[in-house]
Amino acid sequence: MQLLLATSNEHKLIEVGEILALHGIEVVGLDSLDGSYEEPIEDADTFAGNARLKALAYAKATGKRCMADDSGLSVDVLGGKPGVYSARFAGVGTTREERDSANNALLLSKLQHTSESERSARFVCAMCVADPDGTVVGESEGTFEGVITLEPRGTNGFGYDPLLYVQDAQKTSAEMTSDEKNARSHRGEAVRNIIFCFGQ
Ligand code: IMP
Repeated sequence: MQLLLATSNEHKLIEVGEILALHGIEVVGLDSLDGSYEEPIEDADTFAGNARLKALAYAKATGKRCMADDSGLSVDVLGGKPGVYSARFAGVGTTREERDSANNALLLSKLQHTSESERSARFVCAMCVADPDGTVVGESEGTFEGVITLEPRGTNGFGYDPLLYVQDAQKTSAEMTSDEKNARSHRGEAVRNIIFCFGQ
């Protein structure tokens, strides 16, 4: 079985693809489709709302069952920011790498006068599966708890991975292998919680 994941983010495709492959599901991203499709405006104020609007928009546009992920980082001392604005926190950069590094630099600067106990944070991921007729087949959520580091550590993953230190693993998310990250991550948990949509 093949499933469309509404993303062009290679990292998300690999993470979700590795888990769903264990269930006999092959994941394809937007870039593998023949046509190009208008990106919906992600204007919901929750991860779940944005995941739902992306899944519904791409399911309708492509005529295929579609899974969408909306995710981000929630930092307690910043009142949950950057939250749904995680991808565009600093608002600069044209490539994903430039945006990620500007976002990470801004986050570190905002937290520079905080103690470790104030740096608690978590990644949150909302998933939604929708059908072309507008049916929401399933929704799920996952979280990944950690503490924001004082400087980036590790080169795996993407986004804020080098800044989320996971105390019991004694490494940042960017220092984990993809199996280690998938076993604990917000995205891994959200995928495992939505597997029922595929009769499993
Ligand atoms: P989205 O593509 O609109 O869901 O934006 C997600 C943003 O949240 C990304 O650009 C990253 O900045 C951040 N993010 C979400 N998941 C992760 C993750 O697994 N690791 C690191 N950053 C993440």
